[in-house]
Amino acid sequence: MIKDNSMEKIISLAKRRGFVYPGSEIYGGLAGVYDFGPYGVELLNNLKQSWWQANVYQKDNYYGLDSGMFKNPKVWEASGHTTGFSDPMAECRECQTRIRVDKKLTELGIEADEKMTESEINNLFDKHREEIACPNCGQKNFTSVRAFNLLVKTNLGDFTADGGDPVYLPGEACQGIYLNYKNIIDTMYPQIPFGIAQIGKAFRNEISPRNFLFRTREFEQADTQFFVKPKENKEAFENIKQDRWNWYLSLGINPDKLRWKQHSKLVFYASQAWDIEYDFPTYGFDEIEGIHDRSDYDLTQHMKFSGIDLRYNDKINGEKFIPWILETSMGLGRVFLAVLADAYTEDNLNGEDRIVLKLSPKLAPVKVAVFPLLKNKPELVTKARHLYEYLKKEMPQIVWDDNSNIGKRYRRQDEIGTPFCVTIDFDTLTDDTVTLRYRDTGKQERVKMNDLLLKLSNLLS
Ligand code: ATP
Repeated sequence: MIKDNSMEKIISLAKRRGFVYPGSEIYGGLAGVYDFGPYGVELLNNLKQSWWQANVYQKDNYYGLDSGMFKNPKVWEASGHTTGFSDPMAECRECQTRIRVDKKLTELGIEADEKMTESEINNLFDKHREEIACPNCGQKNFTSVRAFNLLVKTNLGDFTADGGDPVYLPGEACQGIYLNYKNIIDTMYPQIPFGIAQIGKAFRNEISPRNFLFRTREFEQADTQFFVKPKENKEAFENIKQDRWNWYLSLGINPDKLRWKQHSKLVFYASQAWDIEYDFPTYGFDEIEGIHDRSDYDLTQHMKFSGIDLRYNDKINGEKFIPWILETSMGLGRVFLAVLADAYTEDNLNGEDRIVLKLSPKLAPVKVAVFPLLKNKPELVTKARHLYEYLKKEMPQIVWDDNSNIGKRYRRQDEIGTPFCVTIDFDTLTDDTVTLRYRDTGKQERVKMNDLLLKLSNLLS
């Protein structure tokens, strides 16, 4: 549901300040692909680090993984992706623009999703055709709906002329976890229940990539799969849901902008599925993470297609069983966008309008900026440079800025969300104190240079 145009301001800031660039821009771009600039990659890495911290380091029974992107083609047959990984698509008969029908129906407030059968969604579409205009030419002359497979084919290792036997790019990152479940068991000897966590790329031939980073054709997913004894899923599922919710709060995201959405329509093997949604400016509430109770489907399928015994052998009571899986799958691009949107603030500080990203210090791409008050006073520059180099050894996400006046430097740092600025001025030369300035309030205080590192470390922890 389009609410306003404030997302445009965020997209513009993201480009202007080196967070996100359109992919292949000098060649006119490539739909659904974006590149992360110098500040974007820092924010993205900080997000990943925080996720890894919460899902691997702070847990005793989770194992990290980084599996290869290319997989044996049978993987995608076993997972059901070659036949069932599709979105409902209709094509405009006038200009050949393709639309994703379930999303168009949802925009009208009609319940629809990609799990509906072709006939179900066609019936619904036929009822509402008159309300859906082509986004390109405005006509209402669409074909009937058909399932469009989202897997992206490659020709890796295929030297035949007809391009048979395709190897796919991953449609979702989690398959690598199922493929390595047995390796983890054989090498790490985990006691059930246990989890595997992975951050990996996914590629989807999205029918209409849109809404900036929200729906792209190349994106990253941060996934956990938690393996439990059959039917011992209920309590663990609730704990996982709570855990994931708390992680978003730990990023400083406004809880009023988050909500749960339970799936009313489930794939046949799932017993429950929930999304965490964020209330994006302009776009409204939409999914940033899915949390799914998947029963024993994934390992059963891979056991059937590979012929390898994937049962867990419980040494305590000698039982052998296929574990059930509780999955969390988060799109990093969507969470990146939610974090930017949540932090984006226009306010007035001491009579001056400004744009400020009120990012949590742990996510901010730059933690501290160091300035000499004046660029042309060598005594200030030398002292500031020493301090900068000393701090940089301890906190590498730090920048030096001596361009233009101090007010403009503050504005620049506010726009990229730098929580603290440190200025070396003439008082520093006599009393070894610096000005420490706080981003959100503009408050300034004098701090002894010797105390600065400890003070900043405390503020950033
Ligand atoms: P949607 O219904 O919006 O297409 P999905 O239900 O297909 O999403 P999943 O397959 O559950 O999504 O993927 C898990 C997560 O991966 C999503 O919650 C989302 O954050 C992210 N994701 C999925 N598709 C995209 C995409 N095209 N671009 C960016 N992120 C995506």
